[in-house]
Amino acid sequence: MSTETYDLILAGGGLANGLIAHRLLERRPELRLLVVEAAPRLGGNHTWSFHDGDLSYVEHQWIDPFVARRWPGYDVHFPRRARPVDTGYASVSSERFADILTPALGERLLMGTPIRALTAQSVTLEDGRVLQARAVIDGRGQRRSAHLTLGFQKFLGQEWETDGPHGLTQPIVMDATVPQADGYRFVYVLPFSPTRLLIEDTYYADGAALEREVLRREIAAYANRRGWRLKTLVREEDGILPIALGGDMGRLIEEAQGVPTVGLARALFHPTTGYSLPDAVHVADLVSAAPELSAGALERILSQHARNLWSDRAYFRMLNRLLFGAGEPTERYRILEHFYRLPDPLVARFYAARLEFSDKLRIFVGKPPVSVRGALRILAAPTRLKDSA
Ligand SMILES: Cc1cc2nc3c(=O)[nH]c(=O)nc-3n(C[C@H](O)[C@H](O)[C@H](O)COP(=O)(O)OP(=O)(O)OC[C@H]3O[C@@H](n4cnc5c(N)ncnc54)[C@H](O)[C@@H]3O)c2cc1C
Repeated sequence: MSTETYDLILAGGGLANGLIAHRLLERRPELRLLVVEAAPRLGGNHTWSFHDGDLSYVEHQWIDPFVARRWPGYDVHFPRRARPVDTGYASVSSERFADILTPALGERLLMGTPIRALTAQSVTLEDGRVLQARAVIDGRGQRRSAHLTLGFQKFLGQEWETDGPHGLTQPIVMDATVPQADGYRFVYVLPFSPTRLLIEDTYYADGAALEREVLRREIAAYANRRGWRLKTLVREEDGILPIALGGDMGRLIEEAQGVPTVGLARALFHPTTGYSLPDAVHVADLVSAAPELSAGALERILSQHARNLWSDRAYFRMLNRLLFGAGEPTERYRILEHFYRLPDPLVARFYAARLEFSDKLRIFVGKPPVSVRGALRILAAPTRLKDSA
């Protein structure tokens, strides 16, 4: 008979499992919990942003200690449209995430400890040790699956201290007035202080190759055009976020062979933006409020949750297929430019992935921003590209 040393082992100490750990420490401190992370620190090297409307009031309250900066609104720029959006935006830094969680977990955290294999109730470490638990949650991040068809949102970001005030008071979530290349391209800027900026060069591209040197040069050129004098490079991050085009959630769940799974490993991200912080927040509440924390109960709750989201979000995957497939790559920005004619509350519901039926119709009203023939070809594509809601 196996001896269960732990009630719950969280495999991977990234965003999804870190937030689950945080909520469990708050709500079920008696739990024998263990977080096992391969890296020497929790959370990696990220800036995780979200829109105010993505979270409920209660969720905002508990995520607040992790938030490095909040802004009351943001701006978008396109060749034929520039506007402010008056809904709040916020960023969590992985540095703050690690600073809060590492001491809070204390001995309940194993860092620098890669996992070789796991089941719903055991974890085998690279060094051969086997840890038993009543349940294991797999939150080891993004992985390839034959049951997910993805496009890529790839980017490189640099945080700079500027020589003198840069003058930007709120984020630029998309500046698509830059030359369009490698798909839909935009620059994203967060003003962390009057002299501190995060500048990211971003591409919605068909391929995942990231030419870091080219992106670094583009950031320097953009800053120069804006008149920002970059003085000291504080940090750099890059990422290739998944954009869901299609897939089969049922098969994806089967692949996990009964292991409760969260985060990007379960395709829990906004299909169009690749953001996963809001989903990770919702899942942390779901797990920490579960009546029973056995492997079977968690697997049922988490797979049902993933199925529901997957089916609710079919519309976004269809939009993504349009974004990636219709029209010339250099014209793809027009879809977002057309989208941003819509009022703030609808934009907020889009980012929260909570569109109403009338919103879905409204997004398509007006002069089509991409070639209609291209769009019809894409919409007829499920025969080529499997997407089961
Ligand atoms: C640079 C970057 C910026 C992003 N910005 C945003 C954003 O602004 N907003 C947003 O919502 N989303 C953003 N994302 C997307 C998404 O939120 C992140 O990718 C998020 O970290 C995914 O959460 P996760 O918990 O699924 O995986 P991760 O946070 O990647 O966590 C997985 C963890 O598991 C560990 N691990 C993996 N394999 C093993 C193993 N074998 N043994 C032990 N540990 C293991 C990893 O080291 C890692 O710490 C960003 C992603 C990147 C890469």
